[in-house]
Amino acid sequence: MPPRHQPRRNTRHTNHSHANTDSNETPVDPNMVSAIHQAFEGLLPNFVAQTVEAVQNQNRTEGRGNTNRRIETNVNNTTEGIHSQHNHRNDLFSCFPATSSRLQRSFVALDIKLSPPLVISIVFRRIPAIRSIKDLQPTTDTISGSPILIQNESVTRVNNLKFIKPTTPRPSIIATPTDETQVQIILLCTKKLGYELRTRSGGHDFEGLSFSAVVPFVMLDLVNMRQIDVNVTSRTAWVQSGALLGELYYAISQKTNTLYFAAGMCPTVGIGGYLSGGGYGNLVRKYGLGADHALDIRFIDVNGNILDRKTMGEDLFWALRGGGGSSFGIILAWKVGLVPVPEIVTVFRKNVTLEQNGTDIFYKYQYVAPLMDHDLTMRVQIFSELIGNTTTKTIRMLFEGLYLGRTDTLLSLLDERFPELNITRVFCEEMTMVQSSLVLGSPEFTSSTPTTMLANRTGIGKPWNSKYKSDYVRTPIPKSGLRKIWKKVFENDMTEMIITYTFGGKMNEYSDTTIPYPHRAGVLYQMLKGVGFMNQTSDTTPVSLRRIEWLRSFDKLLETYVSKNPREAYLNYNDLDLGVGSDTYAEASVWGERYWKRANFLRLIQIKARVDPENFFRHPQSIPVFSINVCIGHDV
Ligand SMILES: Cc1cc2nc3c(=O)[nH]c(=O)nc-3n(C[C@H](O)[C@H](O)[C@H](O)COP(=O)(O)OP(=O)(O)OC[C@H]3O[C@@H](n4cnc5c(N)ncnc54)[C@H](O)[C@@H]3O)c2cc1C
Repeated sequence: MPPRHQPRRNTRHTNHSHANTDSNETPVDPNMVSAIHQAFEGLLPNFVAQTVEAVQNQNRTEGRGNTNRRIETNVNNTTEGIHSQHNHRNDLFSCFPATSSRLQRSFVALDIKLSPPLVISIVFRRIPAIRSIKDLQPTTDTISGSPILIQNESVTRVNNLKFIKPTTPRPSIIATPTDETQVQIILLCTKKLGYELRTRSGGHDFEGLSFSAVVPFVMLDLVNMRQIDVNVTSRTAWVQSGALLGELYYAISQKTNTLYFAAGMCPTVGIGGYLSGGGYGNLVRKYGLGADHALDIRFIDVNGNILDRKTMGEDLFWALRGGGGSSFGIILAWKVGLVPVPEIVTVFRKNVTLEQNGTDIFYKYQYVAPLMDHDLTMRVQIFSELIGNTTTKTIRMLFEGLYLGRTDTLLSLLDERFPELNITRVFCEEMTMVQSSLVLGSPEFTSSTPTTMLANRTGIGKPWNSKYKSDYVRTPIPKSGLRKIWKKVFENDMTEMIITYTFGGKMNEYSDTTIPYPHRAGVLYQMLKGVGFMNQTSDTTPVSLRRIEWLRSFDKLLETYVSKNPREAYLNYNDLDLGVGSDTYAEASVWGERYWKRANFLRLIQIKARVDPENFFRHPQSIPVFSINVCIGHDV
């Protein structure tokens, strides 16, 4: 990983059209960079003041209809100003109180570009409200003649369409930094202005917590910080948080097809959120979670200090691997270990309906799949659908698996342990590991889809429109229970999604406290269930509300069959229905112990109290800050 202030050269995987290529080609003198940093730090308040003033003047002259404004200033013009401010560090940011009220009233995006030689430009533009799916379409909207630092992709990218409605709170400011120094500045400015901060990497948060808040907030979008450096010799990679899993997979595949990263199925999930919540995937039974392979982290704390594993200490390093980064600070980048995979793997897929003995087969799956060879991972997608042209419903189960080896070996393994599934060669396909990420990542892709698609942000991953909940199953559900489940599923209107993901294997070798993610030994499978709001204008129409009600009653039905005391839930499948109270431990434990269990939750609370005692990094389910007496006293 390059040292702190060194601008990064974008690789092919991190390339984006608006990047200022001049700045990327220029060799940088470290002293110059440091000077820029200092100058920029002192200069920003002036820029904000001047820019807001200029925007207002332009508005006055040209009328309010004009939405895009751009001001660019050369540092050389105001060098004196920088130095005088720099010499009086206490005056730093002194302009902000004057500008903050104006900023809060206007709906602007602030973007900062810092590039040698000493050119800073700040782009202000009003953010169009996102009211319909149409607003998601890329536009050719540009601000002429300037390096444009805000992409439409970034400003309007909302993956879960249920958040696209007029009532969804929008950020007052969207910042899309391109290097670590800018992140520091944005953090300090946000604090000074009295905004809350939301950090977004891939934007997949189930509750939209990375891009919405009920108070004025700055959205720090790491879309432009997605460099990936793969080192085959050391079997490691440095990945900036804004990179997506698919981009990492693709980057690895460009260097080797016998190493991989043990991460998730969906290629558009962001590294930042994924790893800070634990992160399971197709290699979970062989190698454990993604976060189990985190070796180092670059992190900005609440005071703007950049820390790594050594300087942050093992406690915080522990917390960031499953405790949720957004409670503690901003994770800039991860150093991860890569794991060996064979050159050829096998993917299989087979549908089984209730009429094809589905209940018995699923019943058996629960017993055998979690105990099978660690090289085999299996998931089951459960759908309700009509039988042929009739009005009678059935359940279809799609059994899908990845085997780290050839078809012949897989078939004999399945024949021996799970003959009821009756997998034959016709259901199997051999491919490379990176191809399997495409095939298992999206039903749209096959093994002949070019693997470049994994790194193609606009070509991969359609938006979704859903509400989800999670569970962990530790005891096989009896056949009578499965029948009750199918019956309940039939009550919904075929918009539900249920996926079981097999654990066991390597996951049994970790203690619940190795990292904050506690759903380890003894978990047979994780269950994700949700409802979609397809064909609905929002998640609040009567039909959508009926689906949500169904999901809650389904959740209630499952209570008997899933983990208990606590009933476990996955942080990365966050669900505000679990509760948001955090004034006392008793309140917070209602949801906190479900994500982390008691021992880990208590440790996370202690770490949070130390690293962010003022609770700047907060959202409805962030690790709470309260007095230690409340935490370890009678309240627990
Ligand atoms: C379609 C889909 C498929 C999924 N598949 C899997 C899977 O296979 N395996 C799995 O484990 N999970 C999976 N998930 C869940 C996924 O891991 C979480 O939603 C994860 O939080 C997404 O990370 P993100 O960066 O994309 O999201 P974001 O919305 O950007 O962030 C999620 C949370 O992390 C915080 N955060 C993000 N970046 C940073 C940062 N740099 N520093 C500090 N905090 C940060 C955000 O503030 C927010 O609280 C899936 C989710 C979806 C929607």
